[in-house]
Amino acid sequence: MAGKDYYEILGVNKNADADEIKSAYRRLAKKYHPDLNKTPEAAEKFKEINEAYEVLGDDKKRANYDQYGSADGPQFQGGAGGFGDFFGGSGGGFGGFSDIFSDIFSAFGGGAGAHGSRVQQRGEDINIAMRLSFEEAIFGVEKRISFNRVETCQKCNGTGAKNGKEFTTCPDCKGAGRVRIQQSTMFGATIRETVCPRCGGTGKMIKERCEECGGKGCKRVPAQVRVKVPAGIDDGQTIRMRGEGNGPAGQGIAGDLNIKVTVGQHPIFKRVGTDLLFDLYVPFTTCLLGGKVDIPLTKGTKTIDIEPGTLNGTVIRVKGKGVKVLNRDAYGDILVTIKTEIPRNLAKKGKDLLKDLDEKFDEDDFPKTKEFKSKMKNLD
Ligand SMILES: [Zn+2]
Ligand SMILES: [Zn+2]
Repeated sequence: MAGKDYYEILGVNKNADADEIKSAYRRLAKKYHPDLNKTPEAAEKFKEINEAYEVLGDDKKRANYDQYGSADGPQFQGGAGGFGDFFGGSGGGFGGFSDIFSDIFSAFGGGAGAHGSRVQQRGEDINIAMRLSFEEAIFGVEKRISFNRVETCQKCNGTGAKNGKEFTTCPDCKGAGRVRIQQSTMFGATIRETVCPRCGGTGKMIKERCEECGGKGCKRVPAQVRVKVPAGIDDGQTIRMRGEGNGPAGQGIAGDLNIKVTVGQHPIFKRVGTDLLFDLYVPFTTCLLGGKVDIPLTKGTKTIDIEPGTLNGTVIRVKGKGVKVLNRDAYGDILVTIKTEIPRNLAKKGKDLLKDLDEKFDEDDFPKTKEFKSKMKNLD
C-alpha cells in the first residue's frame, strides 16, 4: 500500500497546496461516490480517493508520506506507535476529513431531494442597508422594509414531499438514518458509522415531490418586516433582527436580518456620538457688550446668553439637549463654539467711530496685551 502514489490518485502535483488538494478530492469524491456513480469500478476508486485524502489532507501525515512514503513516518515499521497516532480519536485524527465529508454529504442530500436532517440547521443571515435622515436617527422611527428571503414551504412543512407525507423508507439505511462505511486504509479495512448520505439522516426519501416548492422544502418569497429604529442610532450601526433572515433548508431555525444604517447630514449640526456640535458666528459687538442669541435645538430653538467680553473660540455647553443615548434615558449635549465675526469692509462712519473709541482706551483696558508686552521687554 505504501507503494501507491496518492498525488497521482488525486491528480495533483507534489507541490499542490491544501486548497488544491481539497478541491481535487471534492471533485473526485463526487464523481466516484457510489451513490451517484453506478459503474463497477466506482466503489474501489472512491475508497482509493478517500485513502489518498486521509493522508494528503493532513499536514503531518503528508509530511511523513513525502519523507518516508508512509503517513506514520519511520515508526510505521515498529507498529503500535504510529498506529495509535493514526487513529487517535476520530475527532482529532479525522478532523479535516470529517468536516469535508459532512460537507459533501450535505451536498448529496440536497441533490437527492432529502430534507429535514436531524441536525438542526440555521438559515443564512441577510444583510441589507437602510438610509435614515438625521432626524429619524435622533428620534427613532418605525419603518417597513421589503426584501426577498427563503422561507419554509408551508404546503409541505419544509419536508419537500407532497403534502408533507409522501415518503418512502431510505433503501440505504433502511430508515435508520445512519450507515456504516467501510474504508480501506494501509492497515486494512475499518468501519465507521456516519450519517446516511442518501437521505441526509432522515431515514426517509421523497416519493412524490411537493408541487409548491419542487421538493426543496423552501421558497424564495417577498417579505416585509417592521423595523423599530431606536432613538440615538448612529451612522454605521447595525440593527439585528433575530430569525428574520433566510429560513433553513430543512428543519431548523432562520438566520438573522442585519440592517446596516447610514444616517444623512444635518445642515447645521455635526454629530459626535451623542453630542451635537456647531459653530455660532456672533458679531464682535455682541461679544464685547454681551447679548442674547437664538440657537437651534433638535426640536425648536433656545435663546442663549453671550456674556460681555466673550472670546472667540469659547464653547458654550447646552446640557442634555443632544442625542438620546441608545437604550438609556440619557442625552448628550449641544456644544456651541463661538466665532467672533468682524466686518470686512467697514464704512467710513464706522471707522471714525472706532477710531474715537480706540483713543478712549488706555493700556489697562487690555491687561493681557500689557502683560505680554512687559514679558517681551524682559527677554534680553
Ligand atoms: Zn438513509
Ligand atoms: Zn413544499
